[in-house]
Order: sequence, then structure tokens, then C-alpha cells
Amino acid sequence: MSMTDELVSWTWEQKCQKAVEALGSNGFTAVYCQTAAEARQYILTAAADAASVGFGGSMSISDLDVQQELATQGKEILNHSTPGLSRDQKLEIMRQQLTCDLFLSGSNALTMRGELINIDATGNRVAAMFFGPKMVIVVVGRNKLVDGTPQEAIVRVKQWATPPNAKRLNFNTPCAKTGFCSNCNSPDRLCRVTTIIDRKPRFTDLRVLVINDDLGL
Ligand code: SF4
Repeated sequence: MSMTDELVSWTWEQKCQKAVEALGSNGFTAVYCQTAAEARQYILTAAADAASVGFGGSMSISDLDVQQELATQGKEILNHSTPGLSRDQKLEIMRQQLTCDLFLSGSNALTMRGELINIDATGNRVAAMFFGPKMVIVVVGRNKLVDGTPQEAIVRVKQWATPPNAKRLNFNTPCAKTGFCSNCNSPDRLCRVTTIIDRKPRFTDLRVLVINDDLGL
């Protein structure tokens, strides 16, 4: 690793650690991971007793590449993004995710004050993040950190995350074509449910892994 890379990594570590501390103050179980590989190992260990694992459609989770290994261990995989599913099958899996043993998700943003900010089109992902599954693990790459308010984080999501996600998902929105949010009223609008999880939900074992690596959008 070059001196520049070392210094960049050190700087990010300080920011990630500060976010972990803030999350802890807000009641979450928060863990700093130096690498994506560390986060992957944490998930595989935490999943030991889970019979069913739900996937919220997160690119960050996809980047960690845990699904195949969990499937090999015999766990029921609930992933509505599996190719070839009908609309009804997708919806049924989304409902099952709400009561799975372990739900895995990314987060669109994490403020340095320890608040998780997310914007959904359907709402299934954010719903499962705060109630239903026995355990929820949210992975947050350093690129999702926002040194600002939840409102500023929402702006970040609409500027940097939703447009490329709309493009990835083939949604017919203005931002998928221009890369900019125009607060559209498109039938395909992704921004329909916005959540701020600012304290650990009372009955959910919600753990947040803050990773010193860029993950997802
Ligand atoms: S409101 Fe519409 S244009 Fe703006 S980010 Fe959401 S989907 Fe894209």
C-alpha cells in the first residue's frame, strides 16, 4: 500500500470509528470492519443459527458475496431479486423476508451522528430493517458516510444513489436518463418511502457494520 493509500485509509478509519461510536450511543450494536472481507466473516459467523436469510436487494450485500455460501450451508435464501421470479413470487418472498431469522441490507446513507437513512420504492427493505426479522445486519461502506443532518443525507441519496440505481433497475425515471433528481412524479418513481432510523428499534437485534471500503452506491 502506498503512503497516500495508507493516509487515505487512516483518515477513513477515523470517520468510520466516529460513526461506530455514534451508533453505539444510539443503542445499535456497531462494529468497525477494516475490510469487506472482515464484514463478510462477521455475517457468516452471525448467521450460524439462522435457518432463513433475507436479502434486501442491496448492492453492498451483493458485493460481499455471502449468498452462495449461506445456501451451501442449507439455509433458506429469501432473495426477491433471483432471476426468473414472477411478480407474485417476488411479493411472496418480500413478505417472508419480514419474518426471516436474519435480514441483510445495505443503507443508502449513515450520518456521523449515527442515523441510518434510506429511501425505498416498495418499502419492503426498510420495513424489514426495523421490525420483523430476528436479527438485522446492515452493512455500510465508508462511501455512505454523511457528515451532516438526515436531510443532507437524503439529498446525498437522491444525488448519488438513486439515479444510478434507477438506471441499474431499468426504471423509467428522469434521473435514470440525466443522473440528476428532478423530484419527479414518474409512475416509476423510486423515492416513495424515506426512513430515518435514529435509535435501535426496541425489539430488533439491529447490527451495523461500518466498513473502511467503498461498497454499493
Ligand atoms: S424523485 Fe424521481 S428523479 Fe428524483 S431521485 Fe427519485 S426517482 Fe429519481
